[in-house]
Amino acid sequence: MNIREKKQELLNKLYEPYKNCILCPLGTLGRKNVVFGEGNPDADLMFIGEAPGRDEDEQGKPFVGMSGQLLNKALEIAGINRQDIFITNIVKCRPPNNRLPTELESTTCKGILLYNQIRIIKPKIICTLGSHALNSLMVTTKGEPLKITKVRGKIIQRDKITLLPIYHPAYILRNRSELITFVNDIKLAKALTDETK
Ligand code: SF4
Repeated sequence: MNIREKKQELLNKLYEPYKNCILCPLGTLGRKNVVFGEGNPDADLMFIGEAPGRDEDEQGKPFVGMSGQLLNKALEIAGINRQDIFITNIVKCRPPNNRLPTELESTTCKGILLYNQIRIIKPKIICTLGSHALNSLMVTTKGEPLKITKVRGKIIQRDKITLLPIYHPAYILRNRSELITFVNDIKLAKALTDETK
C-alpha cells in the first residue's frame, strides 16, 4: 500500500463514525449529506471553505455549485488540477439558509474532523477561502478577527503549516472586479506549493 492509499484508508476510517453525525446542531437542521471533502489524500495544497451550500449538501461533495465552478476555473487558469489538491470546509454540514456556522458548530466539527484531516493529509500550504474559514483556523489569535480584505494574499505561518488567506469564490461572484486578485492569489498558492517540492 503506498502513502496515498494509506492516507485514504485513514480518512475513510476517520469519516466512518460521523456519516450520520449529530454532534452539533447542524446535524439536526435538515442536512442531507455530511460533506467530508474530496481530493488527493496526500495533497501538498489544501483549500478550506466555510460550510457546504445547497448543491454541496445535495451531492455530498464540496464546492460543486456556482462558487465551485468559479473555483474550478481559477484553479485551471493557475495550472492546478483539482484532483491533485484536497478541498473541504470548516463544518461538514450545511447551515440552514446558508447562515454562518456558529462558534459551537465550528469548534465541534473542527475538533472531530478538520484537524484530523489536516493531521492525516499533512498539506504544506492551506488556502483558507473567505473570512470565516481564516478566523476559524486562527482561533487562538488574541484580539479582533482578521479582516480578509487586509490579509488576503499574505502568508501566515501557523505551526508547521503555511496559511494563505484568499477570498471566498462566493464573494468573487458578487464582486467580479476582484476576479484577477483571486486568480493571482491561487497562482501564488501554486508557486508556494511548488517551492516546497
Ligand atoms: S457540522 Fe460536523 S459536528 Fe456538526 S453535525 Fe455535521 S459533521 Fe457533526
